[in-house]
Amino acid sequence: MAGFRSLARQVRDPGCDTALRRYSLRKCLERFAPYGHRATWDHLCRRHRFGPEDRELDPGRLVAALDELEEARAVWLAYEEEFAARRRREKHEGLRRPGALDDWHRRVWGGNGVVRCGDPELHPSDPLPEVLRRLIAALERGPGEACPVCAGPRIEWAGPGDRYEPWRGPVCVDCGVGVPRTVLTSGTLARARADRGRRLASAA
Ligand SMILES: [Zn+2]
Repeated sequence: MAGFRSLARQVRDPGCDTALRRYSLRKCLERFAPYGHRATWDHLCRRHRFGPEDRELDPGRLVAALDELEEARAVWLAYEEEFAARRRREKHEGLRRPGALDDWHRRVWGGNGVVRCGDPELHPSDPLPEVLRRLIAALERGPGEACPVCAGPRIEWAGPGDRYEPWRGPVCVDCGVGVPRTVLTSGTLARARADRGRRLASAA
């Protein structure tokens, strides 16, 4: 299985035909896709103005999309490295941490789906590196009450049958990201859950 870097080389290779270069960009998303595969692809297509079936595609747009994705990946991997080093130091010092943040990191290690958008057409429009920097700032700050990406206050609880499937859990209804529980206060999580309960009850 080709790694991210060799796929990135193919996207940039002017000797490859454009369809293959686009296919390679799409394959990059199997290695790194912060919103999940479909939503990240939708984001790159919209931001760099190319369609999935675009025959007259300017390869420069694919390369610009790759630049954005690569920068976001570098931001995230640098954060993960720093996080892992911090945990090693803490372990060495005999410091124990509650496991929720570590469990979450293990699940998304490498950066896939860190802010998963269950609805592939609803995601932030800001550049990916900026979105990840905001998420990292929130992870370092500790739990808050708003969306770590757009600062929107409307956090809902997504569950079976919602437009965010298969995502289950807190979601920002303004920008569409699934919010890692670890960046929200227990009060915010409880409110979002209770609201969902009320919505379901009134719909029944
Ligand atoms: Zn948001």
